[in-house]
Amino acid sequence: MASRLLRVSAALRLLPAASARAAPARCLAVPGGLASDEEQATGLERKVLEAMNKGLDPYSMFRPKRYAGTKEDPNLVPSISNKRIVGCVCEEDNSCVVWFWLHQGEAQRCPSCGAHYKLIPHELPH
Ligand SMILES: [Zn+2]
Repeated sequence: MASRLLRVSAALRLLPAASARAAPARCLAVPGGLASDEEQATGLERKVLEAMNKGLDPYSMFRPKRYAGTKEDPNLVPSISNKRIVGCVCEEDNSCVVWFWLHQGEAQRCPSCGAHYKLIPHELPH
C-alpha cells in the first residue's frame, strides 16, 4: 500500500500542474490507474458492494422502505429470530416512541396507533 502511494505521488510530481488538475483520478500516469473501491475490496466489504450492485441490502444499511401500515400493507420488519422489539413513532411529531415485541406469524398492531407490523425472517449472509 505504501509503495503504491509512493508510486502515485511520484507520478503526480512528474505531471504538469495544469494537466494534473484537469485529469480525473483514474487517468493518472500510473500503469492501470488507481484501483476503484470495487476492484480493491475484499471479504465482507466486497460482499456488501456486490450485493449493493445487485440492488440488495443484506445488512439493512439503507433506510427502511415505507409501508402504509395497514392490514393489507403492513410494515415489514426483518428479524433473524422469531421475535423483535419494534419502536413505533405513532405520529410524525411525537416525541416518544411506543416499544413492543413483534412475534413471528400474523401481523400485529401497535398498541397505541394501530399500525400493522409483520415479522419476516431474515438471514445474514454469514
Ligand atoms: Zn404506533
